[in-house]
Amino acid sequence: MLYKTYMSDRKRPDGEPSLDPENWDDLRAQGHGMLDDMVDYIVDIRARPVWQPIPDAVRARFREPLPQAPGDLKAAYDAFRENVVPYAAGNVHPGFMGWVHGGGTAVGMLAEMLAGGLNANLGGRDHAPVEVERQIVEWVRQIFEFPEGATGLFVTGSSLANFIGVLVARAAVLGPSVRHAGLGEAGGKLRAYASAGAHRCIPLAMDLSGMGSDAVRPIGTDADGRMDMTKLGEAVARDRAAGLTPFLVVGTAGTVDTGSIDDLDAIADFCAAEKLRFHVDGAFGAIAVLSPRLKPLVKGLERADSIAFDFHKWGQVPYDAGFVLVRDGKLHRDTFASPAAYLRPQARGLAAGAPWFSDYGPDLSRGFRALKTWFTLKTYGLDRIGRTIEHSCELAQYLEARVRAEPLLELLTPARLNIVCFRYRADDAANAKIVVELHESGIAAPSTTTVDGKLAIRAAFVNHRTQRRDVDALVGAVVTLGAAAQPENPR
Ligand SMILES: *Cc1c(COP(=O)(O)O)cnc(C)c1O
Repeated sequence: MLYKTYMSDRKRPDGEPSLDPENWDDLRAQGHGMLDDMVDYIVDIRARPVWQPIPDAVRARFREPLPQAPGDLKAAYDAFRENVVPYAAGNVHPGFMGWVHGGGTAVGMLAEMLAGGLNANLGGRDHAPVEVERQIVEWVRQIFEFPEGATGLFVTGSSLANFIGVLVARAAVLGPSVRHAGLGEAGGKLRAYASAGAHRCIPLAMDLSGMGSDAVRPIGTDADGRMDMTKLGEAVARDRAAGLTPFLVVGTAGTVDTGSIDDLDAIADFCAAEKLRFHVDGAFGAIAVLSPRLKPLVKGLERADSIAFDFHKWGQVPYDAGFVLVRDGKLHRDTFASPAAYLRPQARGLAAGAPWFSDYGPDLSRGFRALKTWFTLKTYGLDRIGRTIEHSCELAQYLEARVRAEPLLELLTPARLNIVCFRYRADDAANAKIVVELHESGIAAPSTTTVDGKLAIRAAFVNHRTQRRDVDALVGAVVTLGAAAQPENPR
């Protein structure tokens, strides 16, 4: 009743400033056009190059003076179509095989639009978007077979998720008082351990947490790129003997270079015996649990104290959608919760709904990453996503077979998970040139890395759109470009 008394009129009185349009019908028509264009973009993605360099004239269009006066939506959209769309990174394209980038889906795109409309802030308070994220936390808990009481939240990506994992481990050993008292003498002695193939965000997390990146020991790997457990034992014993305090082992499920998965079960045993924390960087590989065929590879993941992973890589959720899951929910909360008068949760009203997500991470304002993930999981289902993950690994095996069968190519690392490293039988400079020319050809976009001192062409299959014909195109183009770069065949 009270509502109706005061809030009945849909019309806006004139004279007060607002950013809503004069003419909603125009806006609606333009919006429908944008939606159609972006659906077409995905439908026709194969008709475009994976990537093309940004012409200087186009780059210069992003050096405009401040837009003081109002412009027009149509003009802005035309500029987007002309200057942004053709020069995107290309990870929507099936020929994108570089680094580890997800392909996204049209469903995810639509969910992003809906999230934009709601403009939800998921830092806290009592509203349904928070329940959507809680639903994902619960699903993730079940996917990774964590106990009830485990907590988690969306963050930008695994870089931040790993940072949170390190902060939780730090609070576990030093107590939450480290948050106000600082590291002190005890904190200066903490040492962490990760495979030499671990992602750079692990030392970065140690750096950001005040322990310093030197406090993580890189542990050598075996022939399969997995952390060498003997070397891990030796490093921990050596540090203990030197009066230092080992506290954390970071296992990697899918190293970014070669897709290697540490022996997570062995690390879990080791951590239990040595009373160390066990965190897993599963940025892209953790989600392999969705495939019954791949799940045994990440055995032991369910025993971690915390897991960092991304929905935006193999999960195909549009950027960004990183996630961290923590076994001990109380510890997680003790690591971040901060009372503040203006954020005091209430029993009723909009300020109810405790605990808030802002009590589990460094962000207070948080977007609705959960919605695009919720739509993705509900629409495709875990089984279908698992099947596309499996297919990426089949493509890696197919590429490995093609490389083995092609005398002009040399296999540097066989298909591990979804990644293959190979090269044209020529020197580093020739291979670097091949990759650059491949990018510029628009046919395929692998990245490069170094394997045993050799520059490698690295193909990582993450995009659900990639097919065998894209692998064929990659192999064919590398051979053609290699032959052109090396008129005298080295054989
Ligand atoms: C991608 C990746 C990261 C970093 O994740 P972001 O989402 O890019 O922050 C960390 N570790 C591994 C193994 C990765 O593949």
